[in-house]
Amino acid sequence: MSVEAIEDLDGLRTFLGPARSKGRVIGLVPTMGALHGGHGALIERARADCDRVIVSIYVNPTQFGTGEDLARYPRRLEDDLAFCEFRGVDAVFAPTDAVMYPDALHTWVEPGVEAQGLCGESRPGHFRAVATIVLKLIHAVGPSRAYFGEKDLQQLAVVRRMVADFNVPVEIVECPTHREPDGLAASSRNGYLDSGEREAARVLYRALRAARQRIADGGRDPNEALGAARAVIASEPMARIDYIEVVGPEDMQPVPRIQGTVRVAGAVWIGGTRLIDNVRCEAPREAQPT
Ligand code: AMP
Repeated sequence: MSVEAIEDLDGLRTFLGPARSKGRVIGLVPTMGALHGGHGALIERARADCDRVIVSIYVNPTQFGTGEDLARYPRRLEDDLAFCEFRGVDAVFAPTDAVMYPDALHTWVEPGVEAQGLCGESRPGHFRAVATIVLKLIHAVGPSRAYFGEKDLQQLAVVRRMVADFNVPVEIVECPTHREPDGLAASSRNGYLDSGEREAARVLYRALRAARQRIADGGRDPNEALGAARAVIASEPMARIDYIEVVGPEDMQPVPRIQGTVRVAGAVWIGGTRLIDNVRCEAPREAQPT
């Protein structure tokens, strides 16, 4: 059976009506398309957990700032439909701007502390638009579960908190970052890189691993871990740091001292392409005085 492509809210209601009335578990995987292995991993997880899997494909214009890559963001719906069909997706919801924004919105979701710093600082207004569109997509589909990747760590923190704050009846399922064999996190933006830039892009994950190693070795000072990461990035002439931070796993705020679980999150420019990534780090337990 081929995957259904649905453009509007009525179509979605008609398609999901029978499944909903039979109490089937519906899973939503929100994406901006140009699907790759990272999306594939989310879809597989949803396929294993849910009776019906809906992938949404929508390049949300309001989450792109002036001068960002909205116009050149890759759009290839036909390929994406084939990708979804191959992975057993039941329907792709690919709305137009007129469906998602029939009028200019008067109401927006205003995320809190989770949206401050990191990408929130480099991309003002981005997470307000992300939270708003995610809420609209969740209301449109009405899933029991929605799947998000840890690659977009801050987005996940914003969405998790929004769902808790607004009692949105959906379970947010967090999926690990899918990487290319050389460690680069899969991303639709990797396609912007030429072969030299693609080689240089490996530096981000290498830098994050260097920071993680410092922490695993018992380093408690975030600046020390960040110094190790910065030194790796400095060794790659094509890379320019946007930010690199050690943050708490829930609120995304820089930690003064490393304890328990933290995340090292970074964004680098490789030529004209901005890439993000992060790793989870566990500080070893401090020896107790005897
Ligand atoms: P995007 O299409 O880039 O907006 O991503 C849609 C969803 O896929 C988000 O929840 C992302 O976090 C997730 N995603 C994107 N890349 C990866 C990856 N490499 N590994 C895991 N999840 C990812």
